[in-house]
Amino acid sequence: MTKEELKQKPAPFLSQSSDNSSKNQFNQRYGARLTPEQFHIMREGGTETPFSGKYWDEHTKGMYKCAACGQELFSSETKFDSGTGWPSFTEPANLKNIELREDLSGGMKRTEVICKRCGSHLGHVFDDGSTDRGGKRYCINSACLNLEKK
Ligand SMILES: [Zn+2]
Repeated sequence: MTKEELKQKPAPFLSQSSDNSSKNQFNQRYGARLTPEQFHIMREGGTETPFSGKYWDEHTKGMYKCAACGQELFSSETKFDSGTGWPSFTEPANLKNIELREDLSGGMKRTEVICKRCGSHLGHVFDDGSTDRGGKRYCINSACLNLEKK
């Protein structure tokens, strides 16, 4: 093989693993720039370590949007300190923007919260919220949210 022939070989980065290509396809479709951690949580149903995310102790007013597609998900008006180490909300900003799905993984019966626009996993909703505020606790991973401050 001559030097010229070697130069014409495709660069190694063009041959992607299937994982990378599904990540790239998703990022391209929604203009998302997910970190490996965000991709794991949002596209593979992962969970961030409690008290580790950027929003569990956040008190700034604003709108929490989907970190992948920018859909409006939760208002700071409904955020409360649940003591769990994850951002917690009493209700979504708009029920039409989320999808709820039964999740039986991990030997538990839970309700998964999903962004309706891009289908990303956000967290779970539980029925142990404050009864005078609807009784729901939306337990959402910080990594799935982007706070747009008011
Ligand atoms: Zn989304």
